[in-house]
Amino acid sequence: MLRRLSPKQLASLYDESKEKMPPAERKAWLDERLAKQVSYAYKNAPAAKQKFDDAGVSPRQIKTEKDLERLPVTTKDELVKLQAKAPPFGGYLAVPINSLNRVYVSPGPIYDAWGPERVTNMVKGLVRTGMPKPGDVVMVSNAYHMVPAGLALTDALDVMGCTVVPAGIGQTDLQVKIMHDLKVSAIFSFPSFSMSLIKRAEEMGYNFKKDFDLKYVSGGGERHIQVLRKVFIDQYGLAVGDGYGTADLGGVAYDCGLGAGYHYEDDICVIEIVDPKTGKQVKPLEEGEVVVTLLSKVYPLVRFGTGDLASYTDEVCACGRSAHRITRILGMVGDHVRVKGMFVHMRELDEAFSKLPEVSRFQLVLKLVDQRDRIALSVETDAGVDRKALSEAINKRCQDVFKLRMDEINYLSKGALPQDAKKVVDSRW
Ligand SMILES: [Zn+2]
Repeated sequence: MLRRLSPKQLASLYDESKEKMPPAERKAWLDERLAKQVSYAYKNAPAAKQKFDDAGVSPRQIKTEKDLERLPVTTKDELVKLQAKAPPFGGYLAVPINSLNRVYVSPGPIYDAWGPERVTNMVKGLVRTGMPKPGDVVMVSNAYHMVPAGLALTDALDVMGCTVVPAGIGQTDLQVKIMHDLKVSAIFSFPSFSMSLIKRAEEMGYNFKKDFDLKYVSGGGERHIQVLRKVFIDQYGLAVGDGYGTADLGGVAYDCGLGAGYHYEDDICVIEIVDPKTGKQVKPLEEGEVVVTLLSKVYPLVRFGTGDLASYTDEVCACGRSAHRITRILGMVGDHVRVKGMFVHMRELDEAFSKLPEVSRFQLVLKLVDQRDRIALSVETDAGVDRKALSEAINKRCQDVFKLRMDEINYLSKGALPQDAKKVVDSRW
């Protein structure tokens, strides 16, 4: 276990004056640390040095966030290639590997370097959301196998003085029993899984509000969080936490509790929203790719492109914090497929299924049968759902949104799709 912090030490991680710094002061603070960071990355991470040298840019030329535009964006695919060429971290690890406490492996495969600094960052992120609190019994229903999700959270919750139940994914009935027996007060999971635990508890005859001690659910990883958020709050009286991050970066932005987007954690990173074609920064509320430079002594990624499309705002939030916010994750860069002569964007798929609450997760498999495209859809639903009616509803939504019907629909129980399952699998080529 990592060192547990006292409630006082924990509270000291939140510095109100920094959070509410006037915007001009915030910019100067950010630029100053960015300039130091790029020279650190240049000196200590061979891949960062190569990136600067290839672009003909000296770290001294990066004095402000705007100057980052001089450097190209490194995509996730490029990071996979860098790691394959110079394993395991592609020349981005700036410390000896044995100073890391975890190395995670994400699909790609890609090695994720996690040192104690990441744990501290996660703790700070959770303290900023205000939940959970020391003494909470927290069930972590995220994957514990290879990827950071479950174990990284457990590390952070240990430090915060919570009692963790490492439940992992699946086994809904058992997780309901655990929640009840251990008086679980907080859950970390996909929001749709937290919701299916609540629904299952009701099917088992419990009165959720009376029989359980749950106060808080945290999620992320699902774009329809806003729909579920309302149900958690209005129907079950729960507080909802949310954040944005990736396995490569850790958490980099968080929801302050107002559901007004994700505040940049600009003590640990610099976030830009850029035009994916030109790499130039876009204006507030314009659409662009989320690009992150980590202010890290361990894994100093410079201009890493997440592949996520989003927009941002520089307005001070109603909570008083001045850090910029990602207003919404809109989809993924270049994330579309062509099927039966039509383009289907991931965003359209999300839109179609966002109005179908019976479907918790889905996957489209594109096949070639007799030289013709066929679309097979797998959906996770509750066992009791009326499949005929739902199939009709799915086809109507898909036709309305992207003009296509499914050739077959397969019904799966919840948790049947792997946690990292892609929304579209193209098996035609
Ligand atoms: Zn806020």
